Amino acid sequence: LYEKIGAQLYGIISDSSWASEAIGAMLLTPGYEDQQAELAIRMIKDGDAKKRLNRDTILEVRDSLRAVLGELLGSLDWSGYDFVGITVSLNQLCSGLYLAKEIKHLSPSTKIVMGGASVSGTAGEAILNTFPFIDFVVSGEGEGALYSLIHSYLEAKPIDETFIRAEELKDMDSLPPPDFSDFFEELQRLPPEKRFIPVLPVEFSRGCFWGRCTFCNLNLQWKGYRSKSSNRMAREVLWLSRRYGVLDFAFMDNALPPKEMSEFFREIRERGVDLKFFGELRASISRELAQELGASGLKTVQVGIESLSPTLLRRLRKGRSVMDNIATMRHLLEAGISLEGNLILDFPGSSEKEVEETMEALRFARYFKPLKAVSFWLGLGSPVFSRSDEFQIRYMRPHRNYKTLFPEHSPSETMVYEYGGTLKRDRALWKRVRREIGEWHRFWDEHTRHIPPLTYRDGGDFVLIRQVLDKGTVLQHRLQGLSRKIFLDMLEPIEIKTIMERNPGVSSEKLHSFLEDLHVKGLIFKEGVKVLALPVRNRKI
Ligand code: SF4
Repeated sequence: LYEKIGAQLYGIISDSSWASEAIGAMLLTPGYEDQQAELAIRMIKDGDAKKRLNRDTILEVRDSLRAVLGELLGSLDWSGYDFVGITVSLNQLCSGLYLAKEIKHLSPSTKIVMGGASVSGTAGEAILNTFPFIDFVVSGEGEGALYSLIHSYLEAKPIDETFIRAEELKDMDSLPPPDFSDFFEELQRLPPEKRFIPVLPVEFSRGCFWGRCTFCNLNLQWKGYRSKSSNRMAREVLWLSRRYGVLDFAFMDNALPPKEMSEFFREIRERGVDLKFFGELRASISRELAQELGASGLKTVQVGIESLSPTLLRRLRKGRSVMDNIATMRHLLEAGISLEGNLILDFPGSSEKEVEETMEALRFARYFKPLKAVSFWLGLGSPVFSRSDEFQIRYMRPHRNYKTLFPEHSPSETMVYEYGGTLKRDRALWKRVRREIGEWHRFWDEHTRHIPPLTYRDGGDFVLIRQVLDKGTVLQHRLQGLSRKIFLDMLEPIEIKTIMERNPGVSSEKLHSFLEDLHVKGLIFKEGVKVLALPVRNRKI
């Protein structure tokens, strides 16, 4: 598909789940193109990207997708297969269903098994009940379940369950390394100017060791947390790198395992290879760890920041403070690791206090890479979904977009729900935060060509701090002697009483007034009894 429609259009469409699904839906349920094309265009939020799209472009993408899947369908004699397994993750549900329908049409005796994140839990059961061409759905991890299913079939044992809740694999080291040879063969068939060196997806762990965030519905797919050993992971990555000639990897984990991750990156660093990685982390990164990870090839991370309001963080059950979030943002920037993080807006039952707290924290967060504003969406099986009363939700029903995707028979349960409650008020409350985040992006784009907007340089017995203000005015601050020492003490979140203990010559009054001055100037962040110096060590970005 990439070859047919080009990288740019492919990127625009695949950035939106609804748009991708709408195009797949045109193949699955022909005759509703107008509504589905309208949905695809409406769900592309990026203004420039939207300008490139109209009904005809969407229909061309649909035709290309049909041609690609048609080639696949025509390339095999499906009647020679007893089972066909189709995995559907993000953006692939409707295309996967179309493929299943066509294979069943070509070979009615072939059993179709679907698995993957999009058919987890009761949403998967509803898909099975809605589409008669699907024989089995595996919810959860496919390896063992698929093996047992086929084994039973080969031994002619009765198979009673068509919806299979899979057992979780216990030992991840027992998995073989992923086999990408088909993908690379396909790449080789592309014309030379369209070939590229891909980023390979790899998996360190499954599940989440925290698993409590109220907005998250990961528990539909996973209950327990397991990871590969660091040594096994390092061997796998180095083997994949050599075998396929690639240097870039993306960990698909929800949260990299903290201890094993450190060992893994140490091993990679010691090998002296120029590998680069993407990974998802919890916001608990020390300055030292960030430096180590940055030096070991971790170049981009997604961190579950989600909020800068302590009240909202508690309701989200993130288990992290605003201080943890700001410190993580600071340390990653200093270590040269690009942060991709979100701020969840419009969370059900929001309060003025949450908005105020966020606005206050944004004054300090603005010196770091901007976060993306995302509206809360209600996921099937998330704690908000299961305990909707607590979040002032009055009703929930499958999101109306599913009616456009499946106009004839819509599954009774879906992954995304719409709801009624405080939504209108929540949106109105968060409007000014959304605007402020827009300003933050503008500020960052305009004032960070070469160096971050708040940096320091250490001169040995003094530090120079460079601070870019809103309109681009640059201030220089000099901290000498003891002030420098206290500033350097604050490069990690630190309790004020610890600063006092480390610097017995300073009176409490003097220290508090010094800290207050730095706080008013936006040079340190304070939360409770802790403080953090915000400037990052000067370096080019
Ligand atoms: S949001 Fe992230 S940290 Fe929270 S439960 Fe889900 S995967 Fe775990």
